[in-house]
Amino acid sequence: MSEIMTGGEGPDFEDARRITENLAAVRAGIAAACETSGRDVSSVRLLVATKTVPAHRIRLAIDAGVDLIAENRVQELATKDGALAGLPVRRHFVGHLQSNKVRDVLRYVSCIHSVDSMSLASKLARELEKTGRQLEILIQVNTSGEASKFGVGLEDAESLIRSVSRLEPLRIMGLMTIGLLFSHGEAARRCFVELRQLRDHIARLALPGVEMAHLSMGMTPDYQEAIREGATIVRVGQAIFGPRPTRPGLFWDERDRDQV
Ligand SMILES: *Cc1c(COP(=O)(O)O)cnc(C)c1O
Repeated sequence: MSEIMTGGEGPDFEDARRITENLAAVRAGIAAACETSGRDVSSVRLLVATKTVPAHRIRLAIDAGVDLIAENRVQELATKDGALAGLPVRRHFVGHLQSNKVRDVLRYVSCIHSVDSMSLASKLARELEKTGRQLEILIQVNTSGEASKFGVGLEDAESLIRSVSRLEPLRIMGLMTIGLLFSHGEAARRCFVELRQLRDHIARLALPGVEMAHLSMGMTPDYQEAIREGATIVRVGQAIFGPRPTRPGLFWDERDRDQV
């Protein structure tokens, strides 16, 4: 599989094997969680989070069958773009989006999971109008109440969704949440339950231009829990590529700090 890229020996060959195994383990984990919750395995998509992972390792994952990846910084999308050109993979954006990066991000991605304000939505819509293109988005909801994180508050989500739904180029496809970062179990589960309940509530409103098809929730430590609570997209990075080299909090806590 990766002989062409690696010469068939050395650390990359090992790495390819490990990534393939990890991927199989995550797919098995998804299948198991679907099984215990009586869900069809085809109702859950695996989105592979690739932040900090160099392009050559992302290629190994794509070789192993990954077809959906996401970054959380526009700068990283741009840096890796050339190396991934032409590969059979779709890209989403899952990070906090600064308004001066709106035009750039649209060059790379087919869906943005992290729309959490009317001002961001308006800027996206204005940019899209120039080309007549439509974009699928998810509304990011802050279910954990942690002040350092992004996302619209639960109580403000409906009014944001009503406003964004009037923007012609944007198609709201569902909701996304990050949940609690460093805890598991009941507390983490409650975030997922809240997102699901909000999804059900919004779906009942049957707003024009709003589909509540997707719940993007669950990461390496808690993706199985998220599936049991209804996730249709799980965003998993470290379970596939191994631990990120830097303190994980850096990628969440610091507003728009450039890559560390
Ligand atoms: C990094 C990231 C993930 C994946 O986290 P892992 O711990 O690598 O599984 C999921 N969602 C978002 C928004 C991320 O930035």
